[in-house]
Order: sequence, then C-alpha cells, then structure tokens
Amino acid sequence: MKSRAHLLVAILLLAGASVAGAQSPGRQTANRAVHDLNFSEQEEHRLGADVSTRLRERYGVVQDAAVHRYVTLVGSVVAAGSARADLPWTFIVLDTEGVNAFSAPGGFVHITRGALALIGNESELAGVLAHEVGHVMARHTIRMIQKTRVEGGLANAATRGAFLEQVGKRLYAVTLASPFDRSDEMEADHIGVALANHAGYAPAGVGGFLAKLAERNAATLERSGMFASHADTRVRLDRLASEIRKYNFEATAAGQARYAAAITYTPIAIDAVRAGAPGSANPDRDARGGSNQAAVVVTVTAAEIAEFRRGLSWRP
Ligand SMILES: [Zn+2]
Repeated sequence: MKSRAHLLVAILLLAGASVAGAQSPGRQTANRAVHDLNFSEQEEHRLGADVSTRLRERYGVVQDAAVHRYVTLVGSVVAAGSARADLPWTFIVLDTEGVNAFSAPGGFVHITRGALALIGNESELAGVLAHEVGHVMARHTIRMIQKTRVEGGLANAATRGAFLEQVGKRLYAVTLASPFDRSDEMEADHIGVALANHAGYAPAGVGGFLAKLAERNAATLERSGMFASHADTRVRLDRLASEIRKYNFEATAAGQARYAAAITYTPIAIDAVRAGAPGSANPDRDARGGSNQAAVVVTVTAAEIAEFRRGLSWRP
C-alpha cells in the first residue's frame, strides 16, 4: 500500500538522519586521525567483529548449522528492509541458557539459546532481531562511546589500530552492561516494529516475547538480561501497540509451525539458569556459557531469502 511504503521510507530516513548527524566531523585536533570517534564503515565492522569475538568467547556458540541457518534467514528477511541492507549482516546463536540478545556495530546480531527457547513463533524472533537491527542502524553503541569519550580515557593510544582496540574493549563492556537509555530503546522498538511488519511478520511479535520475558523474570529483584536497560515493559508494550495502530501495521504472519520445526529448545526458568559466577543479581547476563567459541558460518543467497519470504502470508 502506497501510504505505508511512504511511511516506512520516512521512518528509515529519520534513522538515517540521526546517523548522519552523529558522523559529522568534529573539531579538528592534532590527534584527530588516531582518536577520531567518527568511524568508517570498515572500522565499524572491525569494531563489531571484535565485540562479536568477545561475546563468542564469553558465551560460546551453538554448534548447529541448521539453527544458525534458520535464524540467519529470519534476520536477513528483516534486515533487507532496513536503510543499511547492504551491511554484511551476521546472525549468531550464543550457547547459554540466559535469555538475551546483543547487537554490535557493522551488522552483528547475537541471540542466545535461552531466548530462542522462550520465543514461541517466527514473528517473535523477527521482532527481537529487528529490534537489534534497529540498534545497529541507529549506531547506538557507537553513539554511546562518542558521548562518553572524556570519562572513557580512550585518548592514550599511539596508533589508530591501538585506538580501535581500546574502543572495541569498551564497546564489549558497554554491550554486556546494556548501555541503552530509554530513548535508544524506544528508537530501536520504533525501527524494529516497522521492519518486522515490512517483512510480513505480525508486528506484535516483539511485544508478545517481552510480555513472556517479564512474566518469567517477575520475581527477580534486579532487572535481568534484556531488561537491564530496557524501558519498563508496560510502557514499552503500550508504546508498541500504539505505534502499530498509528501506522496501520497489519502484517499477519506468525510462523508458528516453521518455528516449531526449526527450534526445539526447552525454556529454562530464571532461577534454574546455571550461573557462570555465583551470587549473580543478573542471572541471564551472568549465565554460564558453552565451551565452543567457533563461529558457525552460514551463507544464504538472495534467492533463498526470497524463497523463505514466500512462506510469509502477507507482503507489502
Ligand atoms: Zn534494545
């Protein structure tokens, strides 16, 4: 529908505008080349790869090509509608019972085995991945580093390479600590719900997952995993519902059967998640990880993505 297409373009351009603003060159200094916090696409990818390596070392990787292939297909369908469709999007399933998802610059999106267990259908998975794609699109972790440069003590590297290494370490730390403030989360939700709908998925999917996660974690004193920084769930769910109404998002695919065929993990209650460190107040984040860090590389062709998308019941 024409009005919907225009709306989506407007949303994506809006995200692009804030990205361009964040990249405008700052004050010139003698050390600008080394310590410049505006990163080229190539540098952004290098930083994201660094963060991804550290996440794989921390949690391990599910050594299952079929699971990676399925998650990659869902993620690719969603990312293809984004303003940064040309990034080399990479989807990684981390080997931990903790429920979490992490994005990293340059197109790296991670989701845990525990999250896949809790997710009940493909629209929920698409919603979670689209939210993470939204964080990457709007360069939230990069922007966070840019905002906190002074306190960060990042300026003592002698070479650009050493500087990027420092930034990568910092990005990993803030990724685990969940750096996003409420406006970042709202922006990622705003982009994500539009991307999921655009791909043909019922846009309420991410809300369905968040509601289940809130119920699972209701008894935890501290917010856990994806809730460490996320805006209060009730506020978020209300906001998601009002966006769906406001923009007349009406895609309907749930993908229940396809999800059940691909993902067969059993959900783990939060107090049963095995901790990597004793006495954790954040069991999902501090959950034990698997021992195999090797990346599971899957490639999906444009034709395979198009074929996969034909399985969705609604297309814009
Ligand atoms: Zn988020």
